[in-house]
Amino acid sequence: MTDTPEKPTPKEPEQTIACEVCLAEVPTSESKTMEAEDYVHHFCGIDCLDKWHKKAEQDSKK
Ligand SMILES: [Zn+2]
Repeated sequence: MTDTPEKPTPKEPEQTIACEVCLAEVPTSESKTMEAEDYVHHFCGIDCLDKWHKKAEQDSKK
């Protein structure tokens, strides 16, 4: 059995964040982020990012 000092076992579980569109919990490292108006939005993936984009576009148009 070999120890690998460069790879300590993580003490904390990975942080998750809720997708703004489908509200799924996703690891922050895998989430997609979008900065808008000094606020960072988080999404579980491209699909939800795309949905959010389209909704934001519609909201800003009249
Ligand atoms: Zn989502």
